[in-house]
Amino acid sequence: MSSKPKLALYWASSCGGCEIAVLGLHEKILDVAAHFDIVFWPCVMDAKVADVEALDNGEIDVCLFNGAIRNDDNAHMAHLLRQKSKVLVAFGSCAFGGGIPGLANLTSRDQIFDWVYYQSPSTDNPQSVWPKPHVKVDEGTLTLPTFWNTVKTLAQVVPVDYFVPGCPPEVSTIEAAVNAIVSGTLPPPGSVIGPDTTVCDECPREKNMKKIKRFYRPQEVIPDPNACLLDQGLFCAGIATRAGCGARCPQVGMGCRGCYGPIDRDLDHGAKILTAIASAVDANTPEEVEAILDTLPDPAGTFYRYHLPHSLLRRKELSAANGSNGQAKPERAEMVAASGGRP
Ligand code: SF4
Repeated sequence: MSSKPKLALYWASSCGGCEIAVLGLHEKILDVAAHFDIVFWPCVMDAKVADVEALDNGEIDVCLFNGAIRNDDNAHMAHLLRQKSKVLVAFGSCAFGGGIPGLANLTSRDQIFDWVYYQSPSTDNPQSVWPKPHVKVDEGTLTLPTFWNTVKTLAQVVPVDYFVPGCPPEVSTIEAAVNAIVSGTLPPPGSVIGPDTTVCDECPREKNMKKIKRFYRPQEVIPDPNACLLDQGLFCAGIATRAGCGARCPQVGMGCRGCYGPIDRDLDHGAKILTAIASAVDANTPEEVEAILDTLPDPAGTFYRYHLPHSLLRRKELSAANGSNGQAKPERAEMVAASGGRP
């Protein structure tokens, strides 16, 4: 039996980029394999949930868990891997802050299903099929995980020991995390593994006084290659986003989108970006402020792109008439009831 520490990697509600990022370690993945006994990694090896269930509690030394929690299956795996792991790491933006899946908190489960199963132009659904967690067939009852109305972060479901930011985490960030684990030099539990400075601090672009008269979309201008993008009216969240990525996006002319999340002292990433951007707007009247901000499309999705579930807001409140639990068809009512009142 191997005496190496046991490692697990899991993928909940996410795009899979975090898994690819781990493979981006290239030959260093061999160091990981040399140091750890990888006991569970569904993306690349054939291990079953039953194999995890058969382990003793705490038998997994480290679990890198990526993805948000948005259905019963995600939550079940989060609880199972928490129980079986000594150290549970929220790996990547979705597990840490809710990520892109967390933008679903600007709408509701009913609205999402209504669009996907009824309204979208490419949908052909003459029998008005609506997803439900249980369906009876001749052979018995088939089940699907219940889709939650609210996307949650991993730490909102189970206790988390460490957070690794990024969408996906940069290889250097993953290396830092792996090295800290291997060498036993992890920071205090609850820490974000990464520098507590902002992307601006590692961005080589020249910063000047910001006086934004309007925002431009990336396709509208060819930016000065040396000047700060925000100085040029291009949205950049680097002023309020944790460093560690090497300012890769700003360096190639694309403003930071905020995937590394807030630095330690900032409770609400979106509010911090909003405050920083507001201080750069050059307006004298409320009307001017309105006109300038009108050139920034999708403010909620821009400021809270990766950390809406992790924010103080967590989700948009919707009235019943607006689609939270409103006018349900029988199938929908069955699904909502079957969710057992989950958020
Ligand atoms: Fe900061 Fe973005 Fe300007 Fe770079 S381009 S200095 S990251 S605001």
